Amino acid sequence: MVGKAVVAWVIVRAFRRSNATALTVAASLAQIGEFSFILIGLGIELKLVEPLARDLLLAGAILSIVVNPLVFKLLVRRPQAEPTPVAPVPARPAGHDVVIGYGRVGSLIGAALAREGGRLIVIETGEDNLERARRDGADTFIGNAADPEVLAAADLAAARRLFVTIPEPFEAGQVVEQARALNPMLEILARAHSDAAVEHLAGLGASLVVSGEREIAERMIERAHGGAASA
Ligand code: AMP
Repeated sequence: MVGKAVVAWVIVRAFRRSNATALTVAASLAQIGEFSFILIGLGIELKLVEPLARDLLLAGAILSIVVNPLVFKLLVRRPQAEPTPVAPVPARPAGHDVVIGYGRVGSLIGAALAREGGRLIVIETGEDNLERARRDGADTFIGNAADPEVLAAADLAAARRLFVTIPEPFEAGQVVEQARALNPMLEILARAHSDAAVEHLAGLGASLVVSGEREIAERMIERAHGGAASA
């Protein structure tokens, strides 16, 4: 077994094949083959060897067949399993921003968002303001955002933030309610002009409701009390 395997290994290496290939061939040929049975048969027929030699050869063959899988396992190492390339975890898409209404409030927000460089979708009823949004780089849709068919253009399920800047609380509420149903994770920032509107919009799922009049009053009080002195 050993001699045959070594000879096989040397021959394969002489042909400049890899060590792995040589070991595979050596292990494959290590067991005693059927050619030895033909030779021993001839030897007995020609009375060159005793019949006992055939029994010994048979025992040796059986032994070599039993041992061969172990030799194979020892010599032929499995190729190292290639480490499975770990696919980079795709970063959660940041999502786009949506601004409803592009008047005094919405256009200030839109301009600031444009500087951030992300995708911005604007829905607005007035063509002039829509043109302004286009100039700021937004994708624009005309119509009443409270209408589900119009609001669908904003693709809110994939959005990150929604700025509801329309002043009318009933329509703003319809937008907020639909948006919250479409995307529970969406950050919804809404504009209001009364405490009742603040309550209404917060109740429908807005993350933050900013009351214009209250903000104005607070800035004035802050200034009167000698607080932040910015203009
Ligand atoms: P402003 O009060 O100056 O911030 O302007 C509010 C803007 O919201 C205006 O440009 C209106 O045309 C717009 N707007 C009002 N209601 C809606 C609505 N339901 N859908 C889309 N845009 C609206």
